[in-house]
Amino acid sequence: SLFGLPEQAPHERVLLATDPATGLKAILAVHSTARGPAFGGCRLWHYDSELAALNDALRLSQGMSLKNALADLPFGGGKAVILKPEGAFDRPALFAAFGRAVQSLNGAYITAEDVGTTTADMRGMQALTPYVSGIPREGAFGGDPSPKTAWGVFVSIRAGVRLVLGRNSLEGVRVALQGLGAVGWHLAEFLHQAGARLVVADVDAVKVERAVAQFGAVAAHVGEILAADVDVLAPCALGASLNEQTVPAIRAQLIAGAANNQLATPADGDALQRRGICYLPDYLVNAGGIISVAREYRNEGEEQAVMAEVGKIAERVEELLARVQAADSTPARVADDWARSKLVRPA
Ligand code: NAD
Repeated sequence: SLFGLPEQAPHERVLLATDPATGLKAILAVHSTARGPAFGGCRLWHYDSELAALNDALRLSQGMSLKNALADLPFGGGKAVILKPEGAFDRPALFAAFGRAVQSLNGAYITAEDVGTTTADMRGMQALTPYVSGIPREGAFGGDPSPKTAWGVFVSIRAGVRLVLGRNSLEGVRVALQGLGAVGWHLAEFLHQAGARLVVADVDAVKVERAVAQFGAVAAHVGEILAADVDVLAPCALGASLNEQTVPAIRAQLIAGAANNQLATPADGDALQRRGICYLPDYLVNAGGIISVAREYRNEGEEQAVMAEVGKIAERVEELLARVQAADSTPARVADDWARSKLVRPA
């Protein structure tokens, strides 16, 4: 049933937007506006099928509801995906058409960048809709959220290493990084500065070579990074990396990364727990970017203050792990219940 896709995720509304002139085919998913307008990035991606794109949009927008709620933001959850046109296409025109689709929702959904989209794409939409964020501004706070996302993942890893591994420093801690993109690269920098030893993989060999040269990282094969002999695993590529095939081979004790929807299914979270591996839920640890674009959108942004707010994700990691112990459950399930209890308009 379309209305039951994915499990437990009734959406308030889903817009299928098309524009034959530019080739736009986009899905704008508003999962919940209970806390405020639905806020979440826009992904430009090549999907194997339209149903796969719909499924991605719905899973991602539900995740944004949980992420924004746990981050105490006055926003609901939404997400958009644009199906990448085949062959060459006029990018500014495509994003202008997408901007018009965002505008047609009259503020129920606010967009920003995600995988495949850039600050320039967001800037291009500004003339068509005010419901867009993540745009660098002269002399004011704003722009690429990835460094803030990376900071949130970094402080989560630091907290997890202390609480799960019982180590007070990242010095010598071995971390495997899957994906050295916008977030993964910044995360590698933070980890390297803190003394961690990196094992890295990316489908882009140039990024791997740079990490080897700059951080003394060890390069791993893309197909082997999840099973690397490390203390911490940080998935920073795409979703569903933690699944039936990969979970049995994971050797890290702690998993914390930027990628959205890392667990293919809730059962994979249970399987990690049975193997004694602590998985810190993606939407808890990767909220730094949405915190940044949300502050920018509300004109409340200031670099130090936003970094401090992102740093508080570490306190939520501590609270989550305390709740997990008390509930005798898994971090993924406890975080879900915790976030869902906050899907109400903030006082
Ligand atoms: P990105 O596209 O800049 O980086 C992704 C990287 O992963 C690329 O370098 C790509 O080559 C690599 N990659 C793809 N498939 C791979 C594979 N199988 N193995 C190894 N590497 C692979 O994207 P990003 O902005 O860094 O985001 C990474 C993840 O974090 C995404 O899932 C995104 O949704 C999520 N996320 C990003 C932000 C943000 O602020 N950018 C915020 C929250 C969540």
